Formats: sequence, structure tokens, C-alpha cells
Amino acid sequence: MKKYFILIICFVVINASLVKAEEQNKKTAFAVVSYGYLPSLFTNSLSRELPSNLFTQIRFVAKNDDMTSILVKKFIDSLAEIKQSQEIGVIGLVFVPGELSFREYIDISKHVAILNIAPLAPPDDTSKEAKELFKARVLKQVTRLASLLTGVEECPFFLCGMFDCKTLKELDTKSRNLCPPCQLKIEQVMIRSNLYLAPPGETPPDREGQ
Ligand SMILES: [Zn+2]
Repeated sequence: MKKYFILIICFVVINASLVKAEEQNKKTAFAVVSYGYLPSLFTNSLSRELPSNLFTQIRFVAKNDDMTSILVKKFIDSLAEIKQSQEIGVIGLVFVPGELSFREYIDISKHVAILNIAPLAPPDDTSKEAKELFKARVLKQVTRLASLLTGVEECPFFLCGMFDCKTLKELDTKSRNLCPPCQLKIEQVMIRSNLYLAPPGETPPDREGQ
């Protein structure tokens, strides 16, 4: 009888620690909200690749309605409402084509950024190469905006993901990853906030040792 009792206690303790670890793994640092009818392949590939760029978990929310107007201030407020308490920020992806289209907005005080992905689309968007190029550009820009929301500043190194590109040519040249000093900054923020996601095969750094 005593043996069973000990076994049950062990089971409960192990189970509780597994649940705790799982909860921690589900903690997201950013919500990325896409508006309009973006192909799921597009958002799937972002949700696979963004976490490894930012060393943290990302939450994807797809809204099937278009962004109805470019009343950015209003839009920023509605995005701010999506943010969960532990999250660092929310990034809204919109597709607003046309000559008056904007590139991006960021409101650090409200922890919100908006990226217009229309100007990033290559003219021929039907070929496989064009689709890959489009995804790569969006991934780079979302990584940069998320890092800015984290408090990492723009970087003068033109190959770093934190470099603010003025042209698409510059954007296509730069890496989707951050340079080592910028990478260290974002990793430290994630570790301090208990939101760090170790790359596959790597042990998470010791929080106490920071
Ligand atoms: Zn850098």
C-alpha cells in the first residue's frame, strides 16, 4: 500500500513539472496578425521560420477581413488589444497596394507595428521563385520590426537583419539573421523575460547566470 502511495506521489510531481515546462513553451513573445486573404502556405512558412530568427515563440492570428481603411492610429489601438500580458508586441501584416501605400509604422509606446507587405511583392508573383522572394522579404521585415519592439536598435551593418534598407535591392542583399551583437541583445531580452526558445539541439542558457 505504501509503495503505491509513493509511486502516485512521484507520478504527480513528474506530471506537474511536465505541465509547467509545457506551459512555459507555449508562452509567446509576439503576436503576428495577418489581415485579408493571405495564402496559408505564406503564414505557415512565417510561423516556422520566425521563431528561430527571434529566439522565441510567435503566435499567429489570421483575420479574414481586410484592413478597411488606413486610419493607422485606430488600427494601432485595435492591434494593441490583441497583445497578451507577457507578450512584447503585436505586428499587423496588411496588404495595401497603390501609389499612396505606406511601408510600415511602429508605435513603441503601444508595443505595436504595422507592415504593409504590398510594396514587397515582386511584379511577377506567380513563379515559385517570386513567391519565395516575397516570403523572404516579409520574414526579414517582420524580424526587424519585432526586434525594434524588443528594444534592439537599428544596426549600421548592412548585412544585419536590423539594418534599415531603403531599397528592395538592399533588402534582398541583407541576411534574415541578426549580426552577433544584435543577436545577443535580443537573446538576453528573451532570457530575462523567460521567453527564450533555444535553437534545436542547444541547451537554453542559465537564467540565473545572466
Ligand atoms: Zn546588427
